[in-house]
Amino acid sequence: MAREYHGKKSTPEYHTWKNMRRRCCDSKNQDWHRYGGRGITVCPEWRSSFTAFLGDLGERPTSKHTLDRYPDRDGNYEPGNCRWATPAEQARNSSRNHWITFKGQTRCLQDWATELGVTHECLRKRIKAGVPLIGRLRDPNRCRHGHLLAGDNLYCMPMTSNQAGTRICKTCKREDMARFLIRRGKRRGG
Ligand SMILES: [Zn+2]
Repeated sequence: MAREYHGKKSTPEYHTWKNMRRRCCDSKNQDWHRYGGRGITVCPEWRSSFTAFLGDLGERPTSKHTLDRYPDRDGNYEPGNCRWATPAEQARNSSRNHWITFKGQTRCLQDWATELGVTHECLRKRIKAGVPLIGRLRDPNRCRHGHLLAGDNLYCMPMTSNQAGTRICKTCKREDMARFLIRRGKRRGG
């Protein structure tokens, strides 16, 4: 490989380039298993030339920006699949394959998390746990188990109670009561 003289060895872009190559091309690198080890490569132009890399990506806009593979997070480091991105942009990218449809709207995990006021990680964990989506996302017209809070299934606590106005799902209430009676029955029987 021909040596390049670009006078930019102390720039953050140069460090980014060097680390990218190590992750993908050096099997002794501590991050190898997440990059080169699973087939992620650096295109030949960028691998052999920092000038080509810098020419395609430009300088990093701010110190908050880091190198991000985009739009294909599992793709290679190559022109058309890399950008400088902020942590928020990267979080969005990491969830972009995780589309969630709720109440007729399809959005990525990050957007739902923002709207619901929970962290991306929190929402991802809940979804992984497999609770029905509708309960997790708190449709105001449904109980946390997804039963419709309307008509015969809805009971509102009277204004005189200390839980005034609280809406109770009758289906859940019945199921709770049934479980309670079974537990009590078992204790008595035993
Ligand atoms: Zn319910």
